[in-house]
Amino acid sequence: MIIQDVINHLEDFAPLNYAEDFDNVGLLVGDKNEKLKGILVTLDTLEAVVDEAIENNCNLIVSFHPIIFKGLKKITGKTYVERVVLKAIQHNITIYAIHTALDNHFKGVNDMICNQLKLVNKSILIPQKGTIKKLTTYAPKDEAETVRKALFKAGAGHIGNYSDCSFSNEGTGTFNPDQDAKPTIGKKGELHFEKETKITVTFAKHLESKILKALFTTHSYEEVAYEIVTLENTNQHIGIGMIGEFEAEMSETEFLLYLKTKMNTACVRHSTLLGKSIKKVAVLGGSGSFAIPNAKRAGVDAFITADLKYHDFFLAENALILADIGHFESEQFTKNGLVAHLTKKITNFAIVLSKTDTNPVKYF
Ligand SMILES: [Zn+2]
Repeated sequence: MIIQDVINHLEDFAPLNYAEDFDNVGLLVGDKNEKLKGILVTLDTLEAVVDEAIENNCNLIVSFHPIIFKGLKKITGKTYVERVVLKAIQHNITIYAIHTALDNHFKGVNDMICNQLKLVNKSILIPQKGTIKKLTTYAPKDEAETVRKALFKAGAGHIGNYSDCSFSNEGTGTFNPDQDAKPTIGKKGELHFEKETKITVTFAKHLESKILKALFTTHSYEEVAYEIVTLENTNQHIGIGMIGEFEAEMSETEFLLYLKTKMNTACVRHSTLLGKSIKKVAVLGGSGSFAIPNAKRAGVDAFITADLKYHDFFLAENALILADIGHFESEQFTKNGLVAHLTKKITNFAIVLSKTDTNPVKYF
């Protein structure tokens, strides 16, 4: 098994084009063709984490946060980022970061928080736009079923909890092959009329190359006519933040205590209490102040996130409780989720959960 095989497992789960544009995800350091020795999973890649990988004979670090975020102009060991990169290269250790590809995943960071808080009736807080594409193609009538099945097998036609979704109608296609053509139907230099079926399917954008490959290998024409367009529809399965409900409502103080205990945090910073009970909440692991308007629009009783500034708390405006549980604390269960996922896929290599406490914030 090589490093790339592990990357394939990770990207089958959370494709990199789920990630936000500002992010720096994927393989950050090292050679993807190296043979795998073992995997260490961490939230942050610090020097102590590279040491831990060396001690555990792991040559791949799967990190939630990317250690290289902005460009690096020198790698001389002057900053903690440079020291991590230098040490990883010196010890032939590869570093892969998944970050917002996992933030935007239905079973990612925010789902892990929901599970930790035992929330039900979950949905995405800010569904991504532009992630659904539509393919229209035209197949000879008696080939239509084969083409449709191949497209479904490649992952097209999934809408929510439904698979094999498509729309077809019949008509007449025309073409005139020139002298260099190798037509499978019709003759060179002759206008041909063919009974064709128009097939329309939608698909998630990361599947495009797989779906086109399926189309080209099953369709018999030399030149396959097709159109792909990106839809404005939001994707209910890809996006950041999550809304969920507690099985039973609780008072605000019960909620804060529950949050503190379940999320294992020393401190919950919160906006003014409103004397209302809490049932429906929104969660967004990491820095989530940008999503306060979305949480308000969703009509939640509380928004659980991190990195809120002084002025952010004013935005609560008696509509909801804003609760800042700490950045590390909000994302701490992510590495357990990654280990669980990789353990299901890879059985013959060590997958080590990092024991290094990478939280730079301490409470007195
Ligand atoms: Zn984060």
